[in-house]
Amino acid sequence: MGELANCERCNRVFVKQLRGICNECYQKEEADFRTVYNFLRKRDNRKATIRQIVAATGVDESLIYKFIREKRLQPSSFPNLSYPCERCQQPITEGSLCESCQTQLKEDLIQHDAVESIQKKGLKEEKEATYYAKGEWKKD
Ligand SMILES: [Zn+2]
Ligand SMILES: [Zn+2]
Repeated sequence: MGELANCERCNRVFVKQLRGICNECYQKEEADFRTVYNFLRKRDNRKATIRQIVAATGVDESLIYKFIREKRLQPSSFPNLSYPCERCQQPITEGSLCESCQTQLKEDLIQHDAVESIQKKGLKEEKEATYYAKGEWKKD
């Protein structure tokens, strides 16, 4: 038995199993996926942009992003598919961050590490100084 939860899409209370959405919404999402996929599959539509897909199918933009993120719609087959970077909203085709945000995050991380290791080094030197002082004291 799953636990009761609110559907992420329609907010209705349902028995949560694998999905965060209720069965009805799931069915609807699958139907929407087929609509989008059937549209894109046509040769003329392969290069459609998200905006064109939304206009042609009536499927919600965020749902199309979700399909791309889940790799159900592959940008390798449909070259104009992309979804926004979680940080700066730039269009990307894989992961959750664009390249510049990834680089920036990495730099922030390196900087953070550097600051931390300087702090640690400072602590270590302080300790060594204390030991040294104690050692000297013992010798006396
Ligand atoms: Zn629902
Ligand atoms: Zn970004």
